[in-house]
Amino acid sequence: MNCWGFHAGGCVLGLFRDVHGFWSCDNYRLHPKQEEVEKNLVSKKTVIKGVLLIQFLQVTAAILLYMVIGGSDAGASAGQPSSFVVIARQFIVAMVVLDTYQYFLHRYMHHNKFLYRHLHSRHHRLAVPYTFGAIYNHPFEAFIFDTLGGALAFVISGMSPRVSIFFFSFGTIKSVDDHCGILLPGNPFHIFFRNNTAFHDLHHQLYGGKYNFSQPFFVMWDRILGTYKPYSLEKREGGGFRLRPGKNC
Ligand SMILES: [Zn+2]
Ligand SMILES: [Zn+2]
Repeated sequence: MNCWGFHAGGCVLGLFRDVHGFWSCDNYRLHPKQEEVEKNLVSKKTVIKGVLLIQFLQVTAAILLYMVIGGSDAGASAGQPSSFVVIARQFIVAMVVLDTYQYFLHRYMHHNKFLYRHLHSRHHRLAVPYTFGAIYNHPFEAFIFDTLGGALAFVISGMSPRVSIFFFSFGTIKSVDDHCGILLPGNPFHIFFRNNTAFHDLHHQLYGGKYNFSQPFFVMWDRILGTYKPYSLEKREGGGFRLRPGKNC
């Protein structure tokens, strides 16, 4: 699952031709494109290799989990497809469980210098995030963050493996969008979620390491525990936006 189609659809609203006549989203970027090379501490080739390894490990873990749990409709009552209301409730429960698990783990990863240095700092090599860098992590961190967190959300929500395919795809698309660095008008993730591209981009900045730990859906834990960093967006000279951190809540 990926978000290319989604972005392609969203881009229709914001595409324009650049000075060379190519279609471009540069007028909606949080960072000028060249900063992906200038400011990031890792090459795109290394990121791609790391992401492919994590994808392989996570697909293997998911297959093993489904084999342990059983058939594709395990969890659905009496073998009948779940109603829309049941699936919606399972989605909400899974989102809250995953957010809660990831907030505290993420915050602890920043607090504990050993864990930050050896695990989480790998993700923060991307000061200028881009789509496929969304799941560029240390493989062990990916396991405890996403694989264990996803398994916990899956088990507590009681969703079937079939429903979980949609839930995990949704979560992956959301995470990719959070790292895309492009604020296209009409993007439904930016309309319905306060935890979005700009919110998470702030966390990737040097001053952002103490704020905006919530991921991937809501901002509630940052709000409750005082780590929410407000921000404003202003137009950047030459195109795109600039993120301005505000005063702490
Ligand atoms: Zn972080
Ligand atoms: Zn990130």
